[in-house]
Amino acid sequence: MTTRIDCPSAQPGSRTSRVFGVMTGPVSRRRVGYLTSTVEATPDLLAKSGDAKPTQVFRIAAPCAKSACRHFNGTCSLAQRVVDFLPPVVSALPPCQIRSTCRWYLEQGAEACLRCPQVTTDKADATEEEIRIADAGDNQPGPGPSGA
Ligand code: SF4
Repeated sequence: MTTRIDCPSAQPGSRTSRVFGVMTGPVSRRRVGYLTSTVEATPDLLAKSGDAKPTQVFRIAAPCAKSACRHFNGTCSLAQRVVDFLPPVVSALPPCQIRSTCRWYLEQGAEACLRCPQVTTDKADATEEEIRIADAGDNQPGPGPSGA
């Protein structure tokens, strides 16, 4: 039996993609609003992002692509950079519904969760620092967040 491990900042497309959060708040201080239950990332739901990309509005979990992902080098290098370079933005674990399968949590523990609410998967106005955190050291094509 294969244990499912989810990417918590996935692109839509997988048949088992689940929305677990929605970005909320002003542009300067966007945070993930964690849903009380996950919702299948159907085309109809994703279309509710309007003119924005779904990944600019929703946080989506989907099975980790492992070596098919540019961030994976045996572990998730993006999760490592999130912990290394982003500050904590909450003082307690967010009420997240995917924790039991989240790769970031499985590898980085609570330190990932304390930083996770500030992560937008696809951030149109990402700073140079955020782009560096999202992409540093990753030079292979593959799915993954373009914002951090
Ligand atoms: S890092 Fe923590 S808060 Fe973020 S998706 Fe994973 S389990 Fe949820």
